[in-house]
Amino acid sequence: MALHSLPPGLHPDTLAIRSAADRSQYGENSEALYLTSGYVQPSAQASAARFAGDEDGFTYGRYGNPTVAGFEQRLASMEGAEASISSASGMSAILMMCMGLLQSGDHVVCSQSMFGSTIKLIGSDLAKFGVQSTFVPQTDVDAWRAAVRPNTKLLFAETPTNPLTEVCDIAALADIAHKAGALLAVDNCFATPALQRPISLGADIITHSGTKFLDGQGRVMAGALCTTEQRITEKFLPVLKSGGMTLAPFNAWVVLKGLETLGIRMKAQSAQALAVAQWLEQQSQVARVFYPGLPSHPQHALAMAQQNGCGGAVLSMEIKGFTPEQARANAFHVLDSMRVLSLCTNLGDTKSLLAHPASTSHGRLTEAQRQAAGVVQGMIRVNVGLEHLDDIKNDLLRGFESLPSA
Ligand SMILES: *Cc1c(COP(=O)(O)O)cnc(C)c1O
Repeated sequence: MALHSLPPGLHPDTLAIRSAADRSQYGENSEALYLTSGYVQPSAQASAARFAGDEDGFTYGRYGNPTVAGFEQRLASMEGAEASISSASGMSAILMMCMGLLQSGDHVVCSQSMFGSTIKLIGSDLAKFGVQSTFVPQTDVDAWRAAVRPNTKLLFAETPTNPLTEVCDIAALADIAHKAGALLAVDNCFATPALQRPISLGADIITHSGTKFLDGQGRVMAGALCTTEQRITEKFLPVLKSGGMTLAPFNAWVVLKGLETLGIRMKAQSAQALAVAQWLEQQSQVARVFYPGLPSHPQHALAMAQQNGCGGAVLSMEIKGFTPEQARANAFHVLDSMRVLSLCTNLGDTKSLLAHPASTSHGRLTEAQRQAAGVVQGMIRVNVGLEHLDDIKNDLLRGFESLPSA
């Protein structure tokens, strides 16, 4: 599609604001929102050529839209990818990737601490169609290598993970994948291209939930894959066309505008999260804090090298309790004590949000899968937003101080 031409060599911060589809004949400075499901064709001949893919031009809303294309171009340029293809949600982007790359009899190696719905999709839903999978400990490079089989087509990691913020070595996993003739996909939802660009580290495909930091203010659902032009045209676009997991133009427009402030939000929220994490480590009711920016984090050095020196906006903490039941009750008590922060299973928002992963994002897993993912009953995940730091701490303190003494 005809897209806005910019001089080469611009920095990602500039591309986040300037990379877009062409302006319309009206010269609007803010990118236009094209709400249309169909496109008037100049001639029957041109229409036939467009539908056949021989000529550029929009044909039908399920296949493409100028606002959606603008979002895809901007995200791809920020990730340093050739191209991007968007979808209605992060999970539908992952589904599109799997449907495009895998068939019955193929094998996938996945981190066992991936997002809960990803584990469900690959481990259960795709298993119905004959796709095999092995789930390995995220940070154990040897376990990834050992899990590879002759029919392995895809390695899929998420770094940092939700909710434990485990970090994996993208370059090391890319090496394992490529030696096995497989591809490496990385879910870059937590770090975003503002902190981490997996393709520059050897990853082949990036998956995104645009719902999170790309939007940044908790408004719409969106998802995307970033990879080569060829893979998108040959593998993913056909799935989108027949599967119909198309991103709505309005949602694309919201996320497109969200990208403009991604860099400053990620840096500011990372700084806030680090301050909250350091403070939480000193609270007597908290057994453990998981945050890549803390020196106590097992992959702290790797995270700092791989993530532009930032830990990201999400941390998790384990509330104390003598038994799992008591830890769960204490965590619930803290969650129910909030007066400023929201009890809300989302992240990537400028509002600080708290969630109980064991009963929400990881609630559909079996107890064994939950244990493997390290999601204990006392765990609370915090998306650290942009409220004043003192107000965030005071709200949490209100929860801690009213706990029955642990
Ligand atoms: C939320 C999330 C997803 C799924 O995205 P949706 O937009 O909710 O479908 C995938 N991966 C990670 C790491 C997430 O946090």
